[in-house]
Parts: sequence; structure tokens; C-alpha cells
Amino acid sequence: MAEAPSPGAIDRSGLCIGCGACAVQGGGRMEWDEYRQLKPHGPAGWRDTPTPRFAATCPFSPAAADEDAIADARFPSAPVVDARIGRFESAYVGHAAEGDFRAGGSSGGMVSWVAAELLRQGMIDGVAHVVPLPGPGAPHFGYRISRSLEAIAEGARSRYHPVHLAQILDEIRTVPGRYAVVGIPCFLKAVNLARAAEPVFAERIVATLGLFCGHMKSGRLVDSFAWQLAVDPNEVAAVEYRRKDASRPANWYTAHLTLTDGSARWQDWWHLADGDWGAGFFQNSACNACDDVVAETADIAFGDAWVEPYSSDGRGTNVVIVRAPMLLDMLQGAIDKGRLALDPVDADFIAGTQDAGLRHRREGLAYRLTWHRRGITPRKRVAPRAAGIGWRRKLVYRTRAGIAAWSHRVAWVADRLGMPSLYIRWAKASLSLYQALTYSRGRLGAWLDRMERR
Ligand SMILES: Cc1cc2nc3c(=O)[nH]c(=O)nc-3n(C[C@H](O)[C@H](O)[C@H](O)COP(=O)(O)OP(=O)(O)OC[C@H]3O[C@@H](n4cnc5c(N)ncnc54)[C@H](O)[C@@H]3O)c2cc1C
Repeated sequence: MAEAPSPGAIDRSGLCIGCGACAVQGGGRMEWDEYRQLKPHGPAGWRDTPTPRFAATCPFSPAAADEDAIADARFPSAPVVDARIGRFESAYVGHAAEGDFRAGGSSGGMVSWVAAELLRQGMIDGVAHVVPLPGPGAPHFGYRISRSLEAIAEGARSRYHPVHLAQILDEIRTVPGRYAVVGIPCFLKAVNLARAAEPVFAERIVATLGLFCGHMKSGRLVDSFAWQLAVDPNEVAAVEYRRKDASRPANWYTAHLTLTDGSARWQDWWHLADGDWGAGFFQNSACNACDDVVAETADIAFGDAWVEPYSSDGRGTNVVIVRAPMLLDMLQGAIDKGRLALDPVDADFIAGTQDAGLRHRREGLAYRLTWHRRGITPRKRVAPRAAGIGWRRKLVYRTRAGIAAWSHRVAWVADRLGMPSLYIRWAKASLSLYQALTYSRGRLGAWLDRMERR
């Protein structure tokens, strides 16, 4: 018989994303595990006690409402319903035209602009988002409720780093006010499930700003950056995953570390052993069971316009999906005044910017759901299917899952032995295999091409 969902059972089943929504129930707390991921803990017996509240509110619980059910209830009058990007009013490509939002943001600065505009118009008292936490060692980043335009600006940029919602949900519960929450798809699903379970969240969380998501990394990625830049991870005082350079294509990510002595080290992701996002290094295992790329339950969702000519424009460009009518009016007013430079686009355009992510969460997920798994079986909107997927594609999905799982273990061993080179050598070999399979790189890639043509 299937195990009933409890924080421990979800974790043991590889389905805990570490959002912390369960840690606001019955005295829980979030702690770092040996793989630098956040996991829920609590008083004796807490982790393994199934409760109806947990079953209904953990975003990976098979008993919780799915993204379709949440979006149907939240956006009943949305004129467009698309199987890839969900229900929506309108979609756009572009950037924030006023102020420093674009220069300060990861993409076009639209998330920070919308958060700031909600505050300026008096529609919220604070925005829960992720800000740098200065100082050496983990955690580097955490959620904070920002209540001024300056504080919102401090949070701009993407943090591919474990963070959790427990503290800010506690604060929202305790401090009356109207709040917006910024988050990746599964975190906002958790926020919406919390809203349904506890009226105080429904009343106080008045807007959700979603970030498209490829997958969540563990904190070990920062150690790996440090190892590859020949510095001690304990000397890392600040991290920028994605430093912006307007003179280079937007999709050339640069990782940047500031050290405790004030000096800096940086490297382009493409020169790092684990810098190919698609290879899945340090991916949280729950992401293997995710079917939402574009934050389908968010009032408004934002991503990068990963198609030309936008991906070559180093200043950064957003794609935006508006699902809540209230935000449509706000955006339209600002477009009319030239404060935002946004052009309308359709669902095909948005989906085209997220081709790889959608393939991984549709075809890839269908295939992964056919694999044997222990513990709780996730309930997804995608049916298990192996038929019709070519052997090479299957190998790509297997390799990606293998890299995701083994990167945690190999880096842990390398750390324990004080031998970073062990991890780096393994990562380089794994990356070569992945790139041969995926992009036909090297002699192995050419051989695979010949095999495929036979
Ligand atoms: C883990 C992760 C994976 C992503 N994967 C994709 C992808 O596959 N495809 C794609 O198109 N886009 C992806 N994005 C979104 C993309 O990186 C940008 O965040 C998005 O385009 C918004 O850019 P912006 O310039 O409008 O935001 P900015 O104006 O820079 O503002 C970003 C806002 O998001 C908040 N924030 C940053 N990191 C987090 C976090 N981890 N959790 C919650 N809030 C956070 C910041 O505090 C800030 O308020 C991902 C983001 C994250 C965090």
C-alpha cells in the first residue's frame, strides 16, 4: 500500500523541493542537509506524521490540488487556455523601459518593476522575494519581505539557490497587511495551497509573481564554482549566478564570486564543468517530477525571451504571461505611457522560448514516470509513456537524471576528502557524455549519429 504523505515520506520519495510550506505547520523548521539542500524537520515524530493539512498543501503531495485545478479556480475567465503555458489573459515580450529595472534585473527587469508598481500604487504593503544575505558560507540568499522601493531593488536578479518560504509565511500570518510573493512554480503552488488551507493567507497574499523555472539547484553549485575558480568555498562572501554584461549575448551567463578579502573571481558558465544548465548538475530530485515550467498558478509569470533576436541582446528581455485581469490593466496603462516596452505575443511564442524546459517536463516527464520508483508515486498531468520516444532521447533523459543524482554524491565525497579535483574530473567526463548525446559533440557524438542513422 502507498505510504501516506508526510514531510519525511515526501523527502524519502525524492519529492521534497524544500519550499518550507510544511514547516509552518506544527512547529517545523528548515535545515540544510549534507547535499546543501533545505529539508523540513520538527519536534519528535513530526516528520513522519501524515496529516490532512500536509497532504493538501505540499506541492508534490499526490493528494493536493494540481496546477490545472488551482488555475481554473483562480483565473476562471481567462480567455486563453494552453496545454503548455496554462490559462492566461495576455502575453508579452519586452522589458521595463523606465528607471534602472532592466539594467538591474536578470532579464528585462519586469519582476522588480511589477513588485515596485504594486507597492507604488498602494496595492501591497510588502513583497516577499529573495535577497542576498551577506557573509561567508551558506546560505548566501534567503526570502525577505521588502517594504520599500530601495529594498525591492536590492533583491533583483535570479538566485538559483535553495531558499524557503517558512519564515515569510510566518511573518505574513503574524503581521497584518497585503503581500505579494515572488517564487518559482512549485513554491507558488505551495502558496496557493496554503491560501486554500488557511484564510489568513488567502486574505493577505494578494498577488503572486511567478518565475519560469528549468530546475532548482542545490547550494553545492557555489562550492563547485569556488573549486573551479581555485578558491576555498568558505571564503565566498557573495555570489552572483548571472552577472549582466550588456555588450554580450544575454544567454552567456557569467558566475561571479566576491571573496571575504574583497577580491573577485568569475567565469562564464560554458567554461565550467557543470555550467551546461540542461545537463542537470545539482538538480533537486523533486524537479524530476515537475510539470509546470511557467508558473501556471501565478497571477503573472516571467521568463527570459530565449529566442532570437532577444537572446543575443545582452540588456535582457522578458517574456510575460498575465493571468489576473487586475495586472493586465496595470501593464496596459504603463505600456500606453511608454513606461514599459512590451509587445503582445501568443502562446506559441512563449512556448518557443522554453522549448527545452517544456520537452523535459512533458516528453521527459512521461518517460521518467515509467521508471521504477520507491515510496510515494507523484500524481501528474502527464501520463507515463515510453513508447514513441527514440533510444537516443531516452538516453539523454537517463544521463540527465544520472548526473543530477550523482553530482550530489560525488561532490559530497570530494568535499569530505578535501579533493575537489575528484568532483571536477567526474563532472567533465559526465558533461562530455551528455554533450555527445545531446549535441553530437566529439567522436562519441559522431558515432551516435551514425548509429542513429542505421
Ligand atoms: C531557479 C530558477 C530557475 C529559472 N529557470 C528559468 C527558465 O528555465 N527559463 C526562463 O525563461 N526563466 C527562468 N528563470 C527566471 C529568470 O531567471 C528570471 O528570474 C526572470 O526572467 C525574471 O527576470 P527579471 O529581470 O524580470 O527579474 P528581476 O527584476 O531581476 O527580479 C527577480 C526577482 O525574483 C526574485 N528571485 C530571484 N531568485 C528567486 C528565487 N529562487 N525564488 C524566488 N524569488 C526569486 C528576486 O528577489 C527578484 O525580486 C528561473 C529563475 C529561477 C530562480
